[in-house]
Amino acid sequence: MSKILVIEDEESVRDNLLDLLEAESFETVAAANGKIGVEMAMSEYPDLILCDIMMPELDGYGVLAALRQEPSTSTIPFIFLTANAAKSDFRQGMNMGADDYLTKPFTRAELLIAILNKLEKYANLKKNLSAISNKLTPRMQLVLHQLKLAIKNKNFEDFDIYYQPSIDINTGKITSAESLLRWQNAELGRVSPLEFIPLAESHGLIIDIGNWVLKTVCQQMQIWQDIGIHNLTIAVNLSPIEFNQIDLIPKVIDLISSHNLQSNCLELELTERMIMEDMNLAIITMEKLRSFGVKIALDDFGVSNNSLMYLKQLPMDTLKIDRDFIQDINSDYRKAAITKSLIQLGHDLDLKIIAEGVETEAELALLRENSCDAIQGYIYSPALPALEFHKLLLTNKSFSV
Ligand code: C2E
Ligand code: CA
Ligand code: CA
Repeated sequence: MSKILVIEDEESVRDNLLDLLEAESFETVAAANGKIGVEMAMSEYPDLILCDIMMPELDGYGVLAALRQEPSTSTIPFIFLTANAAKSDFRQGMNMGADDYLTKPFTRAELLIAILNKLEKYANLKKNLSAISNKLTPRMQLVLHQLKLAIKNKNFEDFDIYYQPSIDINTGKITSAESLLRWQNAELGRVSPLEFIPLAESHGLIIDIGNWVLKTVCQQMQIWQDIGIHNLTIAVNLSPIEFNQIDLIPKVIDLISSHNLQSNCLELELTERMIMEDMNLAIITMEKLRSFGVKIALDDFGVSNNSLMYLKQLPMDTLKIDRDFIQDINSDYRKAAITKSLIQLGHDLDLKIIAEGVETEAELALLRENSCDAIQGYIYSPALPALEFHKLLLTNKSFSV
């Protein structure tokens, strides 16, 4: 049975909601103000929170901010309730997570649809996470222990962001770069993101890490813009938990404006898995990010077996064809055929196509023949420390395409 926490200062509204939820067989807990609500969320671990916005002392936004800071409550679905249907409030609610915003009076059906939608998504997330955390090898336990130590002590000195350029296939110039996280631990040496990111995701550490990545990338972009390097897009990988954060959009917008960045220089990389989990909600989030100028890329494209029909519904800018498709593309005619049609489809949808993990001249030639737009891979450059990438930018080098 799912447990729902209702945070609402108006007693009659609260009682009404509790009756309704109990009639639908939900387990309920209730708080009469924001402060108690935060405490209850942290002691009861509800599956979902319904929270009024207008409350004395700690309002709904304050409750949300407090819960998002705490790893154990940071991913609990959160639905705002408000009596105020003013456009500006609606907008603020939208900016903090769109369809998690219900205007009172709402119908029973509206409420239940919003709740069930969110619960299903959270259940999937929890299932994925517990599948990972149930079978930790001794090595993973060690990595996790070191990771927790670093995050708890806010010690990000051992982390670094590298930048891997992507090269325009027509001009040979660097048009964008992907930021890739690196971790050098005193005990373990260098640990691959493929190893520590899933652990960070399943143990409530990814939000802190992701915040640091976004902030560090924005600081770096500001340095580059300040010395006159414009039109360089930097892509940041988001994990599903980050993408689902209700305050993702205000956070990103705030980072962009506090670093005086042009918003179209930041691109967020999402994967199909993240989008398919709740496509309608994903589309709303993507649309909102794009309305602020932030670009969206679909990463690792082609690895899941989804139908391609959904692609045309997605508001985005870039398609990154996964390295799996590029590797052996010259000897595997099926891969070549698929890649060719992916590029065509992407172009029909007005998307920029980047091929990932290109290593050989032969791969490059085939991609060029098929009008791929840009190339990322060891053939041109691995991911580089910021300073080395900076030097590369300053040379204004043309790569041979
Ligand atoms: P990804 O997003 O698919 O990133 C591309 C990976 O391919 C990177 O591995 C990159 O170093 C590697 N690569 C690039 N060119 C080549 C090539 O020509 N050949 C081969 N064999 N590999 C190439 P990396 O840096 O180990 O990152 C692995 C994954 O970790 C990334 O896959 C991404 O999913 C995740 N990741 C990295 N940084 C972050 C981050 O800041 N946040 C999140 N959430 N995930 C991250
Ligand atoms: Ca990526
Ligand atoms: Ca990728």
